[in-house]
Amino acid sequence: RAKFMGKNTFIFFHDEMTVKLRENIEIENQLVKAINQDGFALYYQPVVDAKTKNIVSYEALLRLKDSNLSPAKFIPIAEETNLIIPIGKWVIEEAVKQIKRCANLGKEIPIAINVSPKQLKDSMFVFTVQKAIEEYQIDPRLIEIEITENIMIENKAEALNVLNELRKLGITIALDDFGVGYSSLNYLTYLPINKVKLDKSLNDKFLNANDSKVIEGLIMLFKSLKVKVVAEGIETEEQYNILKHIGCDYIQGFYVGRPRADF
Ligand code: C2E
Ligand code: MG
Ligand code: MG
Ligand code: MG
Repeated sequence: RAKFMGKNTFIFFHDEMTVKLRENIEIENQLVKAINQDGFALYYQPVVDAKTKNIVSYEALLRLKDSNLSPAKFIPIAEETNLIIPIGKWVIEEAVKQIKRCANLGKEIPIAINVSPKQLKDSMFVFTVQKAIEEYQIDPRLIEIEITENIMIENKAEALNVLNELRKLGITIALDDFGVGYSSLNYLTYLPINKVKLDKSLNDKFLNANDSKVIEGLIMLFKSLKVKVVAEGIETEEQYNILKHIGCDYIQGFYVGRPRADF
């Protein structure tokens, strides 16, 4: 579009791109530093049973220790630069350590780990997970892996293989951010998925007192597929009550609890 807008406009776009590039390089440097200097932390957000409000699991969410840069900003850069591989490894190990710490205190609670398509495509991924399980002697059923439908964009057969191997280890697979992309229902028929997480944007749009039919329909569909449903980003009691009423299995969001450094 820029070329129709004259020379000055083009230069403006160019400058904006340079700023963006410089910002990305700065973030990349921050990530490298965090990898080398123990600069990451995991926060944990509770997920509750809709009926009882009992905590059923936690989701591990990555943070930079000395910065409030959001993962929504730095994860895409970690992916582009492949830094997600060492970062993802750290996340897996740290989450497994947390599972172990809890188990030692007599609390066996599953922790969900977010995994990028790049990680899943890495030939060492399953080995990394297996090694952590063995090293810390934890029950693999306490690990959940959250994936997004993007994993199916490139090598479907390979992604499917990895997921099946994880399932064989006893690990739970959750499809994250449902409702954000194309959300092809096709995937659901052949991916070995145990849970689906309805994205905040979907809940914000379709969950209100007059009309919750879209969410209600999805919940019915997933029930018939024997897939559990987690509603994400729930901030109000009203949303919570509607979800409980329409039979949503699990609920996550600020209404239930924010991500915290420990639990
Ligand atoms: P996600 O996996 O869908 O995680 C949910 C995000 O929604 C988290 O943002 C969480 O803090 C936020 N959230 C939860 N409840 C509410 C709510 O009620 N209201 C609002 N406004 N937000 C809520 P966060 O921690 O900033 O993470 C953003 C995304 O970054 C995650 O989305 C996930 O895709 C990615 N991410 C985070 N940690 C990791 C990681 O360790 N590895 C990878 N590959 N990706 C990660
Ligand atoms: Mg997630
Ligand atoms: Mg999500
Ligand atoms: Mg996400």
